[in-house]
Amino acid sequence: MGVDGCIFCRIVGGEIPAARVFEDEVCVAFDDLEPQAPVHILIIPREHADSLASATDVHKETLGHLMLAAVKIARDKGFADDGYRVVINTNSDGGQTVFHLHLHLLAGRQFVFPPG
Ligand code: 5GP
Ligand code: ZN
Repeated sequence: MGVDGCIFCRIVGGEIPAARVFEDEVCVAFDDLEPQAPVHILIIPREHADSLASATDVHKETLGHLMLAAVKIARDKGFADDGYRVVINTNSDGGQTVFHLHLHLLAGRQFVFPPG
C-alpha cells in the first residue's frame, strides 16, 4: 500500500528502514536522516497526504493526533520542560522536500526565531 514513489509511505510499510521512536494506529515517528538538532524526529501519518496545504476537514483528527504525538514524545523523552519546536514545512516556499505530510520535532538546543 502507500503512494508509489513516496519514501515516507515506504518507511510506514517497512520497505525502507528508519529508527522508529514511537508509533500507533495513526502515525509513525522516526529519527530524521539528517538531524538539524540533537533531537530531530519526524512524525508522519500512516495514511498518505501530500502536505499541510492539501489538508481538509477529514484530516482534522489526524492533525490533532500528530500534534499530540509530539507532546507525548517530548514528555516521554524528557525534553518537554526544556522546550522544543514543531515545524511543518509546506510546499515550495515552506521548504518542503518530501511530499508526505510530516511534523518535525526538534529539541536539544536553543532555536532562533524567525527561522531562516
Ligand atoms: P522537509 O524538507 O520535506 O520538511 O523534510 C523532509 C525531511 O526528511 C528532511 O529533514 C530529510 O532529512 C528527511 N528525510 C528524507 N529522506 C529520509 C529518509 O529516507 N529517512 C529519514 N529518516 N529521513 C529522511
Ligand atoms: Zn506517502
